[in-house]
Amino acid sequence: MHELGLVCQVVKTVDEVMAENNLTELDEIVLQVGEMSDVVPKFLEEAWQATAPTTEYPDAKMTVEVMPALAKCLDCGYEGHVKTFVPDCPICSSGNLKIVSGKQFDIKEIVAK
Ligand SMILES: [Zn+2]
Repeated sequence: MHELGLVCQVVKTVDEVMAENNLTELDEIVLQVGEMSDVVPKFLEEAWQATAPTTEYPDAKMTVEVMPALAKCLDCGYEGHVKTFVPDCPICSSGNLKIVSGKQFDIKEIVAK
């Protein structure tokens, strides 16, 4: 369960942003997780619930937005959603894809009170 480690990194970043902006009260952390990344949103939320009481922001919420797996086919030009495991082009079955979205793990927003 590496989600716990990810949450620790997120908290570190949040701490920095809060300090830089002289903020103390955190309302919500919004994360964007690609559906091709190996992060499980449910585990992430559970890890946050376990970690939150040990941080400066025990009442803050964590919201995880799942970003769809999007790719461009380099053979036929298809652009759109692809399977998350062993993606191939739904039009021409080519595996020659450029992944556009779906592997990210980003902090989208830090919402202070
Ligand atoms: Zn194709």
